[in-house]
Amino acid sequence: MEKVITGKTYDIQGFSVQDGPGIRTTVFLKGCPLDCPWCHSPESKEFSSELNWMSIRCIGIDDCGMCIGVCPNDAINRGLINHIELGDDIVYPHVDKSKCNDCGVCANVCKADALYICGVDQSVDEVVNRLIRDKPFFDESNGGVTISGGECLCQPEFTIELLKKCKENQINTAIDTTGFVKWQNIEKALPYSDLFLYDLKCMDSELHKKIIGVPNELILENARKIANKGGRFWIRIPVIPMLNDSKEHFEKYGEFLRDIKYNIDIVQLLPYHKMGISKYDRLLNNQKVFVSEPPNDKLMQARKEQLEGYGLKVRIH
Ligand code: SF4
Ligand code: SF4
Repeated sequence: MEKVITGKTYDIQGFSVQDGPGIRTTVFLKGCPLDCPWCHSPESKEFSSELNWMSIRCIGIDDCGMCIGVCPNDAINRGLINHIELGDDIVYPHVDKSKCNDCGVCANVCKADALYICGVDQSVDEVVNRLIRDKPFFDESNGGVTISGGECLCQPEFTIELLKKCKENQINTAIDTTGFVKWQNIEKALPYSDLFLYDLKCMDSELHKKIIGVPNELILENARKIANKGGRFWIRIPVIPMLNDSKEHFEKYGEFLRDIKYNIDIVQLLPYHKMGISKYDRLLNNQKVFVSEPPNDKLMQARKEQLEGYGLKVRIH
């Protein structure tokens, strides 16, 4: 019997116009080896499935309370009263994550989907069948499929098989990667990847390690190797205040990217934004979130022009 390859996904989003050329459907995989404090998809960080909770969907203990009493580990109790600006006060459940093993029993009884398990195991065929439905949009727009994360190449068997199946169905493919993965995994994915959306978060390795948890040498080395093998890039630079937004830091970006510029279709400068902040509460684990003011338009324009000076095609967003 043929082996069924599964991966842990947490979302599949159609009609994306940010994740590569044309209209794309993006498959998001769980788990990331980096720990970016500004991450706008914090639910992607853990490799395992985990319980999430969205306050905006919750009806409250007094009007619902279905989750109270069902937890085999006694992890859910009555929480504090919350004062709602334009409505009645509401008492939400409190989940003690130190007792929770993410079994999902409470999510099964929550009719409002306020409690839900983030991360499901899906087979390659299951995902491909979903993706094929969008093929007319890909064909119409020169779009395709993007496999993202987390870090999709931390689930190499699933990602590579998914890429292969997409190519068998004449679907354009892109991988959105941190680059912090074994070269062997990238090498196996290369023949089936039309494009690498490649993140370069910080050019100072010590700072990279201090802020993000890992150094950057492997990331830079893998980018050079992909270029040597003829891979195509969209380079993505998140512009983060006080981390990498200085003129000096962008000189380092420019010098590195100049060497691989013939493999780069575009450099995307992605200004830091606060839109992911509300997601941190859903994780129920008190994870700290980095908060800052976004870089202003003048600075973004200056950094764009600076990189253009290295012969690169650059866009903001
Ligand atoms: S997911 Fe956690 S809180 Fe919910 S029932 Fe299971 S152990 Fe209890
Ligand atoms: S079952 Fe769901 S909607 Fe009801 S109180 Fe619990 S979390 Fe809220």
